[in-house]
Amino acid sequence: MKITDIRIGLISVPLKTPFKTALRTVNSVEDVIVEIYTDTGNIGFGEAPPTGVITGDTTGAIIGAIKDHISKTIIGMDIENFEEIILRLDKCVVKNTSAKAAVDIALYDLYGQMYKAPLYKLLGGYRKEIVTDITISVNEPEEMVKDSLDAIKRGYETLKIKVGKDSIKDIERMKAIRKAIGYDVKLRIDANQGWKPKEAVKVLRQMEDAGLDIEFVEQPVAAHDIEGLKFVTDNISIPVLADESVFSPEDALKILQTRAADFVNIKLMKTGGIHNALKICSMAEIYGVECMIGCMLEAKVSVTAAVHLAAAKSIITKIDLDGPVLCSEDPVDGGAIFNESIITLENTPGLGIKGIQGLKYI
Ligand code: MG
Repeated sequence: MKITDIRIGLISVPLKTPFKTALRTVNSVEDVIVEIYTDTGNIGFGEAPPTGVITGDTTGAIIGAIKDHISKTIIGMDIENFEEIILRLDKCVVKNTSAKAAVDIALYDLYGQMYKAPLYKLLGGYRKEIVTDITISVNEPEEMVKDSLDAIKRGYETLKIKVGKDSIKDIERMKAIRKAIGYDVKLRIDANQGWKPKEAVKVLRQMEDAGLDIEFVEQPVAAHDIEGLKFVTDNISIPVLADESVFSPEDALKILQTRAADFVNIKLMKTGGIHNALKICSMAEIYGVECMIGCMLEAKVSVTAAVHLAAAKSIITKIDLDGPVLCSEDPVDGGAIFNESIITLENTPGLGIKGIQGLKYI
């Protein structure tokens, strides 16, 4: 199965409501789609969102990395030499994890198609159904209460609340939400680097004292501040999850060795795809640290790849793959089936994606 061509397209999918975090506000998913063509007629699909504020990867940068570096390196190679292709993909350009992830995902799709097996089965096949949380954007407390109650009505048993914009108001927000929803629903919070270390400890201790029963806090401090992250982890009893601090397997190793966080959040757009994500899973197993799998604002192609990985690996115990359910339409034919919190995989080879509507080739 030789790679004959790589085509790039853009999709635009409106969100149901604006997505607001401590870092940004977004109204629609505008992603780069990769199609890898082969001499057998098989097509591998991949996707990357331009999340400049987190990965540094803009639309132009993703397209440039694929056209100028990756395509030139891997066109003509055979999917049977999978390890060789993946190693070359990793080395042909530094950083650019989103572009690499899009191509890595499409390559794994072809790998599954070549062996006529669903990807999750090739990677471990631990389960075929997973349950995701849903994100509640940062807004005025009343609006967040309304959004939380609405999500619970739709069947979500875990809510991920975005905080980190204003620490005093964050406590008010969390108290209002917990009071409205009771204690049967799990609450995890994501500060998206919004606090300073001492501020984080102060806010989180107040949340502990208020009995808000927070499952864990995600990325309380700046991505580069590993000492600050460890300071928070060591000084509160709420578990801490490292997200923006962990891109590569090397980043994960540093967090694991220093115990700077209690959990690690894997996102394919940070790792550069499934190949490196598997390395993080293996290291986390060695250290006995559970992983979450998350996504950026992504449509169903790349999130389907994350679902396959999550379904394959037992060390991934927390799922935050709500990208597709935040979208108001689904341009992808096939792939994982998203029914609110329940995500299931079918027995189709690779990612199981048949095509994408409304794709604008460039
Ligand atoms: Mg996060």
